[in-house]
Amino acid sequence: MFECSNLEQFMKECASLDYEKGIRLAEHSTFKIGGIADYIAYPKTESALCALVDYLNDEGIKYTVVGNGSNLLFADEGYRGVIVVTTHLKKIRKTRNTLYAECGVSLTALAVYAQKHGLSGLEFAYGIPGTVGGAVYMNAGAYGGEIKDVLLKSAYFDQETSKRFELYNPGHKFGYRKSIYADNSHVILSAVFELKPKDPAEIKAEMDGFMAARKEKQPLDYPSAGSTFKRCEGHYTAQMIDQAGLKGFTVGGAQVSEKHAGFVINKGNATARDVKELICVIKAKLKEKFDVDIQEEVKFID
Ligand SMILES: Cc1cc2nc3c(=O)[nH]c(=O)nc-3n(C[C@H](O)[C@H](O)[C@H](O)COP(=O)(O)OP(=O)(O)OC[C@H]3O[C@@H](n4cnc5c(N)ncnc54)[C@H](O)[C@@H]3O)c2cc1C
Repeated sequence: MFECSNLEQFMKECASLDYEKGIRLAEHSTFKIGGIADYIAYPKTESALCALVDYLNDEGIKYTVVGNGSNLLFADEGYRGVIVVTTHLKKIRKTRNTLYAECGVSLTALAVYAQKHGLSGLEFAYGIPGTVGGAVYMNAGAYGGEIKDVLLKSAYFDQETSKRFELYNPGHKFGYRKSIYADNSHVILSAVFELKPKDPAEIKAEMDGFMAARKEKQPLDYPSAGSTFKRCEGHYTAQMIDQAGLKGFTVGGAQVSEKHAGFVINKGNATARDVKELICVIKAKLKEKFDVDIQEEVKFID
């Protein structure tokens, strides 16, 4: 385990930052998997987040910025360094038809806020268990909507220059479940969404419909990281997994959900090793049966 008294001193002196030592990462992942992290830091303001990342960068200390951990698989061995969790950054501000949200704002909370203010565009995001930062990073989407459809701009911290920048929508180079942030190590600080006025009751009806569809189709009773694999050009990945006879296939505590073959679930006490092994089995089987190469959507954090 890595211990650093200077780092602890730095974090103690930063008023807008909490930290913990030796915490199980399973508590920070919707998969409920992951060993001990040396440090977990919770900045509460944008400036604390930037100062911490700047410090870690200068000192050469390994770190990873995460949101709600709903698209992650932490390693069984844990993390030697600092996991920076953004969920304490949760300011939302409305200006006419735009909403500003800090990176740690829950996507579902933001969709509800927009609905209450009669602003339409984020209905699709209701029920996605991520944060604004994670959603911009991933270009999260569902039911025909994506972050790229409603994002005006994001703000990020560039570790190379130690400066804050703003990036307008086209600069994000959005693709299917990806953005430019996957290619650089910048920290997403906040985002501004451009929405359209609409009757709150109509927005709510649509959101409720999406939530009902999630509950009906997804194995929400078990821990998971959502869809394990990306969509595959010209094929439905979940359908192929089903047709390959893999529904219910289990490695240790990890299982291909019986309810939705696109989800690998944690049936209880699954390890990251179980999940990775199951992913390998699924990939090999789909290659053999359909001659397709599928790619994980879930990110491995080691
Ligand atoms: C039950 C379930 C249902 C789901 N349904 C959907 C769905 O319908 N559509 C969909 O798109 N996804 C879905 N997901 C996946 C997941 O919720 C999304 O990908 C979400 O956007 C991830 O956000 P997060 O805050 O949890 O990010 P995390 O999982 O914490 O992180 C994801 C990636 O983003 C990076 N990151 C996070 N925050 C920042 C930041 N501030 N700056 C820089 N990098 C950052 C992390 O380093 C990591 O690489 C689902 C997951 C679950 C468990």
